[in-house]
Amino acid sequence: MKLFNRNKQPAPVVQQNPAPQNLLAELALTSIHDGVIITNRAGLIQYANPAAITMLGFNTAQNVIGFDAGLLLKIESKEGRELPENENKILQAIRTGQPLESYEVCLLSGAAKKRIPISISLIPVNNSEGNRIITFRDITKELAEEGEQTEFISTASHEMRTPVASIEGYLSLALNPQTATIDERARTYLNSAHAASQHLGQLFRDLLDVTKLDDGRLHPHFQPVEMVGLIKQISDEYRVPINNAKLTYQFGSSEPNNTPGASRRIEQVVYGYVDVNLMREIMGNLIDNAIKYTPAGGSIYINVLGDGDRALINVTDTGIGISSDDLGHIFQKFYRADNSDTRTIGGTGLGLYLVKQRVEAMGGRVWAESGFGEGSTFFVSLPRITGEEYEKRMIAFNNGMLNNIPQGGTQ
Ligand code: ADP
Repeated sequence: MKLFNRNKQPAPVVQQNPAPQNLLAELALTSIHDGVIITNRAGLIQYANPAAITMLGFNTAQNVIGFDAGLLLKIESKEGRELPENENKILQAIRTGQPLESYEVCLLSGAAKKRIPISISLIPVNNSEGNRIITFRDITKELAEEGEQTEFISTASHEMRTPVASIEGYLSLALNPQTATIDERARTYLNSAHAASQHLGQLFRDLLDVTKLDDGRLHPHFQPVEMVGLIKQISDEYRVPINNAKLTYQFGSSEPNNTPGASRRIEQVVYGYVDVNLMREIMGNLIDNAIKYTPAGGSIYINVLGDGDRALINVTDTGIGISSDDLGHIFQKFYRADNSDTRTIGGTGLGLYLVKQRVEAMGGRVWAESGFGEGSTFFVSLPRITGEEYEKRMIAFNNGMLNNIPQGGTQ
């Protein structure tokens, strides 16, 4: 095969008029699968690309140009719940002109005949028109893949728990002087193997708990509760492990007071509408961490306060604290701060992810305030209900009429 022809004249350069920039931009916008809408300050649509028109359930641009984007973008929560205006972040972003980053919702397309899971974002333009550029992408495929992944992790964790429990059991027998005789060197090795198998067992348990919410198997069972009493009851159950770790515990305080060990009187009554089992898991993880990351001699303070329309819980410790670099990551899956203090403390990096998942499933928010070496406070903020609403929901609950009505649901 002739690879190179010396005699060949260079191919003539085809002179083309360079395409105007706006034609190229138009070409890109009409070819992509992402929907793009441009509105003016008032939220009226000035431009929609073909993908946007189709995803909104229309055929031509005339059906959408000049219309209010807030009205055409009919969205529901991912769980299929109609979003009230204060939860509809896209509507708020259109109105306020504040940027919105990748927000996952369900788009009701074509007179609600089709529901498309989308991720949507808004970029405000700083021009005289006050344009907002809204882009949205169909994420059906990504969600299906995520679902398969979650199912795989869940099945694998479930299957692997049994052999790990058996390994743990046999290692315990080998380490028990009443059931086995081993020399000191073997004991050292088996102790390490036992610690590793316990870690593995915890990892599978945590993974199973995490996947329960990820794949939608865990539906919160909301019930009206008095939050101070509930959180005190759950927290008091940790007195023994707290004492074993040589820590002091105080309920009803956000910070050390002068008389360690003495509980301040709680005067406030705070009503909430939560899933009690999820609250147990949330508090359990936060208190376990406070115990784990606080050296002996330290203290743990827990409190619940009414903060406007929110119930605010704090779990405060005087432990090793979290550096500002780590603080932004600790709620991510598998994230563990890596320093000389945490390296010797066992963990899977899933506890706080699990907490975040569960708090958000109840319409709440969790965050931490800390500094390295300064102790930590974890805050959980959940929707609060009035005493009157509590009474009403309590009657409905006792009559078995409250079944999974989400936060903010009407009775
Ligand atoms: P882990 O199993 O590692 O404890 P978590 O998800 O519960 O996983 O926590 C993530 C990381 O956040 C921990 O590895 C630790 O570095 C940090 N952390 C969590 N709680 C505390 C706390 N109370 N004090 C200091 N560091 C904490």
